[in-house]
Amino acid sequence: MRQLTGMDQPYPIAPEKLAGAPAPRPRLGKLCVAVQAASPREMMDRASAALRDSRFLEFRLDWLAKPASVLPLLAEFLAAHREVTAIATCRRKQFGGNFGGALTAELEILRRAAESGCEIVDLEVESAEEAKPGQLAKFRAGLAAAGAALLVSFHDFSRTKDLEAAAARIEAFAPDFVKVVSTARSLADNLAVLRLIEERSLALHVVAMAMGEEGLLSRVLGPRAGGTFTFASFAEGAETAPGQVSARTLIDLYRFEQLDQATRLFGVAGNPIAHSLSPLMHNTAFRRENVNAAMMPLRARAVDDLLKIVRELPLAGVAVTMPLKQEVLPYLANMDPLTARIGACNTLRTGADGKIYGFNTDVAGVVRPLERRLRLRGAKIGVLGAGGAARAAVFGLVEQGAEVYIVNRTHETAVALARKAKAKALKHAQLAKQQFDVLINTTPCGMTGSKQAMPVEANELHARLVFDMVYNPLETPLLKLARERGMAVVSGLEMFVQQGARQFEIWTGKPAPEAEMYRVVELELRRRRQAEAAREA
Ligand code: NAP
Repeated sequence: MRQLTGMDQPYPIAPEKLAGAPAPRPRLGKLCVAVQAASPREMMDRASAALRDSRFLEFRLDWLAKPASVLPLLAEFLAAHREVTAIATCRRKQFGGNFGGALTAELEILRRAAESGCEIVDLEVESAEEAKPGQLAKFRAGLAAAGAALLVSFHDFSRTKDLEAAAARIEAFAPDFVKVVSTARSLADNLAVLRLIEERSLALHVVAMAMGEEGLLSRVLGPRAGGTFTFASFAEGAETAPGQVSARTLIDLYRFEQLDQATRLFGVAGNPIAHSLSPLMHNTAFRRENVNAAMMPLRARAVDDLLKIVRELPLAGVAVTMPLKQEVLPYLANMDPLTARIGACNTLRTGADGKIYGFNTDVAGVVRPLERRLRLRGAKIGVLGAGGAARAAVFGLVEQGAEVYIVNRTHETAVALARKAKAKALKHAQLAKQQFDVLINTTPCGMTGSKQAMPVEANELHARLVFDMVYNPLETPLLKLARERGMAVVSGLEMFVQQGARQFEIWTGKPAPEAEMYRVVELELRRRRQAEAAREA
């Protein structure tokens, strides 16, 4: 039988608070926006702005030089916004906060915050343990009189270990809310956090998450596992904890409000991964096609860590990026013959049998844009570069019956790839004399930040169509020159979208909304470029 505590049993609300109240406060939302600021006025301005995302706010009083100075403004704000539920936090420095005062001062500020209308106060477990029994009892009586609930929190800023013991320490105080926060060092740490939530949320109000980039899953999925709520920042750059994401990112990008038990979860895995465009592209496609699914970035340092999450969370599929495309191969139950020959897999799908199947959709990323524009059988195609991306292009195009010539800075690598893929290797010096139907750049030349702008000299560019895999910038120097010469062009963005479209088909069995996927990724690339330019100016 499920025991009810905290929010299920209404916690004490002072009669004077109820008298004349215009409307009852609604129950807690699942998303609490943490508000920090440098001044009381800024804190209240940010709180007002945060209301566009949530009616549930945490006020990090410890971020202010004088935490008590904001309380009159806070009281005014909460009286004016009766729909808002507020948490007050004034964490001391030694426990990961910014408040330099002593325990007595912290308790006093929290009690006054409760009197100012905050319905929940957060007290770190170390402070609860440090307080004398009489002192704690008096503090709790003050909260009860003000109608506020007590949340006791634990933070581990270095690892995820012994979460059960941390929860037990908190539960010794029988608070209304139990909050356990650790630091993720691996993806598997999310599993420990989500298990703690699943087990304890049957009897208690539990909030748990792992900080750090690897802990993102726990932040997004905590409430789905039974957690009472999760935290988000007011805006990008205003995080109150490592790895916290903004409320808008949670809602718009990770589909936080749509997640339920039936949601199929996907990831894009690699290292680094934070700037991957795949979550934006796929979550847009899922939304557009009414697929109950969500994709999140997974910072994976090791393939066994990724596979543990795939099996145990579980994940329905993963987009795999560098450096894991080769490393996953030994763990696959099966893969298509072309993927096996290429020796790199960028897409995982978990079958109904629980086994993991591998695909290489980079091939579709190259072949689809080209077959829409020309007949590939017998076409003469030059490939610049012989790395991972070139392999998918060369094997895929040879399979379509194209005559493929590889030109690479390190000629021996081109020769080795040509031998394996039944293509030909050309020395760079021979390039000027060649006329291709298609010339594909698979080197990073021309990419923002790359020292070399062009993979070929202007007098070496003889093709009907030029395809550049680089998509940042959208128009590379190579594509610009090709356009000026009247050649047809294919951008790296089209490849990115087409390889993603093939992933979408593999995962959902539906045709992908390619135009919409293209539109959002292009828009985001332009937004990033403008932000970069603004930073440089
Ligand atoms: P990779 O495995 O490191 O291979 C890079 C290739 O480029 C190698 O053949 C390398 O030659 C050559 N190269 C590097 N710097 C060069 C230079 N300055 N001049 C001439 N050649 C140079 O990389 P990858 O995974 O194949 O990725 C290559 C590019 O494709 C990246 O820009 C990536 O962003 C892009 N890409 C785009 C998509 C898409 O969806 N649009 C998908 C995959 C990749 P050596 O053998 O001599 O080192």
